[in-house]
Amino acid sequence: MHEMSLCYSLLDTIAVYQRANMDKCVGLVHVKIGPLSGVEPDLLHQAFLTCRTHSIGDQAALQIHTSAIKVRCTLCGKHSRAVVNRIICASCGSWQTELIQGDEFVLQRIEFIPSEISTEPKERQYVR
Ligand SMILES: [Zn+2]
Repeated sequence: MHEMSLCYSLLDTIAVYQRANMDKCVGLVHVKIGPLSGVEPDLLHQAFLTCRTHSIGDQAALQIHTSAIKVRCTLCGKHSRAVVNRIICASCGSWQTELIQGDEFVLQRIEFIPSEISTEPKERQYVR
């Protein structure tokens, strides 16, 4: 599963930011995933639990935010939401659309916590 390699890349990026916070631990990692990203949230969470072991984020929790699919119609120019397998303009029904949002996998924010109050890893958290 490619979620493992995504998590290793995520932890590499987190390590860069952690260098500026050497006295702290990585607490909560916020990522944003679009429905068309090809990333499965449950698999990502499982992969994160495996990959964080013995890493800079060994006590970190992952908070996954899922985004909506948004398109811009190239015929009528309107912006609208769409759903997986039905990427059409909600205004005129055209299939001639450009994807504005929905295929992203983004590291949004890293919350650092003081080392002395770090606790056991948190359970997964989802925000939709
Ligand atoms: Zn349209």
